[in-house]
Amino acid sequence: MAHAVTPSFEQALDKYEPVLGLETHIELGTASKMFCPCPTAFGADPNTQVCPVCLAFPGSLPVVNEKAVEGAIRLGLALNCSIAPWGRFARKNYFYPDMPKNYQISQYDEPICVDGYLDVTVDTPEGPREFRVEIERVHMEEDTGKSSHVGGSTGRIHGASHSNVDYNRAGIPLLEIVTKPIPGTDSLAPLVARAYAAELRDLVRSLGISDVRMEEGSMRCDVNVSVNERGAGEWGTRSETKNVNSLRSVERAVRSEIERQAGVLDAGERVVQETRHFQEHLGRSTSGRSKEEAQDYRYFPDPDLVPVAPSAEWIEELRATLPELPAAQRARVTAEWNLSDTELRDLVNADAIGLVEATVVEGAPSAEARKLWLNELSRRATEQEVELSSLPITPAQVARVIALVAEGALTNKLARQVVEGVLAGEGEPDAVVEARGLKVVSDDGALGAAVDEAIANNPDAADKVRGGKVAAAGALVGAVMKATRGQADAGRARELILEKLSS
Ligand code: ADP
Ligand code: MG
Ligand code: ZN
Repeated sequence: MAHAVTPSFEQALDKYEPVLGLETHIELGTASKMFCPCPTAFGADPNTQVCPVCLAFPGSLPVVNEKAVEGAIRLGLALNCSIAPWGRFARKNYFYPDMPKNYQISQYDEPICVDGYLDVTVDTPEGPREFRVEIERVHMEEDTGKSSHVGGSTGRIHGASHSNVDYNRAGIPLLEIVTKPIPGTDSLAPLVARAYAAELRDLVRSLGISDVRMEEGSMRCDVNVSVNERGAGEWGTRSETKNVNSLRSVERAVRSEIERQAGVLDAGERVVQETRHFQEHLGRSTSGRSKEEAQDYRYFPDPDLVPVAPSAEWIEELRATLPELPAAQRARVTAEWNLSDTELRDLVNADAIGLVEATVVEGAPSAEARKLWLNELSRRATEQEVELSSLPITPAQVARVIALVAEGALTNKLARQVVEGVLAGEGEPDAVVEARGLKVVSDDGALGAAVDEAIANNPDAADKVRGGKVAAAGALVGAVMKATRGQADAGRARELILEKLSS
């Protein structure tokens, strides 16, 4: 049998069509755990947020967290799902050291939300294109604890002298959102997967039910991919790449897996149904556990829990109080701010709509707010490798900087220094202006002296202006700006120069 050679993405797509499927876990931001009153705050000392229920002491009984059910229903409604009027939790039985009960409470054949969809948009050379991703189900479950392996050099279990288990995370509520198979995306498959993950993240964030930080693990994607020969009429065998923890990795995981599977099929071999692990540093996944000897989880309804039976009134109340969802928000700001496709896309890609909107609410014109967030602030976020929203500057502070520029108190260049000061923790914009002495020099006394000096030092330019070549004033304004280290009001300096040279 020929050894598999990995073709390029384009070669793979010539011959094969991909099918996608995404399973996403969201950690809910409830104050307490799924089945006990333990707190859920991130980063506490190990095993300080535990109790007999989440440690599975014999005789302890779980009670369902109403807020978690509410979050599940709100997400289901936002995803256009039907909400089950009645459903039970199930025990998913398997042994794992970080799971004290040796079963996970989940939902199996009675999920709380079924049959929805999420529309996503991807950019193509021909313009934006929309895909409808069908949602199979949203169900509730609980997270496991966390193991760490001590004494080895790699942090892995091999070579470790012992392992520690922290149960603080055990029992934190999770929602799992499972898509139906997504065919028909062709070469856009990597982008569709990424756009879906981004849209789902934004949707969840708009509902306020989770902080959905992929890098911290409060949103985790498992990416299923199969390929089949064009026109085969039957989907191929899928692999499932686990715990892909950034949008970029979702895209890369799909792309590399399409290439790998095409290579396997080209060589006359068959794709093995398995779980794979995405390796950030390689940009592709490596083989994990084969699913062909898939374990039997012996699911059965959990007899310790009463069924979840949300009333129709409650569901309608939750539907009526859904916030504006991202798609509606995008449509609204596009109209309100008069955006082109490209301008909207830039805002979406920078994850800046909410920030710009908050800045506009603080009184800034939308064009200026967009400019500051997309240029200066995006650049600094990239530099510091943080999300735009994590920069230590508030929309109110950004709006104040914009107002100072509009009043003529700051030039754009000085405004950037003020932003730098705010980001460096030097306080409010006005305090930074004061402390750094950044006010525009616009009083005619100080400015007049600088103008006189510029005229004296640049006689050629001055003569040209005297002779009617007004364009030559630019050199003099430049000299004034240089002399005042950029703090002059350039407009006023120009007026003074022309006044002084006109008589
Ligand atoms: P499991 O229970 O083993 O995880 P599921 O039936 O829940 O399997 O499917 C997991 C995910 O894989 C779903 O999102 C589903 O849509 C997707 N999927 C199923 N078949 C295929 C396929 N042939 N190619 C790609 N994705 C698939
Ligand atoms: Mg699954
Ligand atoms: Zn507990």
